[in-house]
Amino acid sequence: MKPETLVEFVRDIYQSNEQIPLHVPRFGGNEKSYVLNCIDSTFVSSVGQYVNRFERQIADFTGCAGAVATVNGTAALHTALHLAGVERNDLVITQALTFVATANALFHMGAQPIFVDISPLSLGLCPRAVDCYLQENATLTELGPVHKQTGQRIKAVVPMHTFGHPVELDELVSVCTKWQLTLVEDAAESLGSYYKGHHTGTIGEFGAISFNGNKIITTGGGGMLLCSDEQSALHAKHVTTTAKVPHPYEFYHDEPGFNYRMPNINAALGCAQMEVLPEFLRQKRLLAEQYKAFFADTEFCFVNEPPYAKSNYWLNAIICPDSASRDELLEFTNAAGVMTRPIWKLMHRLPMFEQAHRGNLKISEWLEGQLINLPSSPIIQE
Ligand SMILES: *Cc1c(COP(=O)(O)O)cnc(C)c1O
Repeated sequence: MKPETLVEFVRDIYQSNEQIPLHVPRFGGNEKSYVLNCIDSTFVSSVGQYVNRFERQIADFTGCAGAVATVNGTAALHTALHLAGVERNDLVITQALTFVATANALFHMGAQPIFVDISPLSLGLCPRAVDCYLQENATLTELGPVHKQTGQRIKAVVPMHTFGHPVELDELVSVCTKWQLTLVEDAAESLGSYYKGHHTGTIGEFGAISFNGNKIITTGGGGMLLCSDEQSALHAKHVTTTAKVPHPYEFYHDEPGFNYRMPNINAALGCAQMEVLPEFLRQKRLLAEQYKAFFADTEFCFVNEPPYAKSNYWLNAIICPDSASRDELLEFTNAAGVMTRPIWKLMHRLPMFEQAHRGNLKISEWLEGQLINLPSSPIIQE
């Protein structure tokens, strides 16, 4: 396949001769009216009805026991790890191939990552690689698994559903049960993605979603913590709102807390975006099908949803035959105004995580050299 064929194809899909970005927000519904209404009400900040309404919409949509809106996805993940009992100096298993926010949330806890390989099926954390790493490097004690080299406790496993494609959750749950580890899902990219009919982020003890400007829906900036029981959702709400005990005028806080609550004005955007999410999902699936058909007869491999899952196809991706063709395609498309990009630098290559524990990362390293993301904004006729 010639790079110019792809440029033509993308321009044709988006019906545009201008710069085509990787992913942009779309506002075609009630966004303006809800935001204006929010301003008129003066409740633009930490209290207001849009926050409660948005939390209810997400809880209903995902089927989780309770959802708590936060200032961003990283904050949701940080809170999740805090509530999961991760402590300073604990180790947490996650994938090397992820956006830096996953690893940063661990850093905020004073915990350290163990980077493990991904599965070629999902591009997310591989359950077999996790089990293998633990067998080689951990001993199960009364405290749970402990790292043989450092004596540190290994507390949790944080898989990330890469580009919206769900990881192998049944197998991961088994590994977590076997090793007494808590499962926290980084579902930042996977709103609208399902694992065997269950929404991503609802199978682990906690899940975190992001509403950053480049995600499937946006609140400007924002996140949501999905909780697996009502009690922990109430607790999550408490700790994300400075742990203030309700009282008409007294300031009393009964535990360390965060100021992580999503402002009402952002939630107003979120309520409107949730109304159009089903249409976005439909459009993204159509777009993925078009890409899939386009790449079918080429040497490039389109990344499909795993067979057990329904993906939101947040970002479409292809695997190039080698790094040289990857570089050529990146160069050509970006110069032609069609934005494509390589996958994130693997976490253990970043200066702050160079020393981190890690397993064999063969598949992550292979994809790092050969994967490209393609323009994926939903196509909505105005
Ligand atoms: C977007 C994203 C987050 C959260 O990002 P925020 O910008 O803090 O909302 C976390 N993890 C992954 C994998 C992401 O893509």
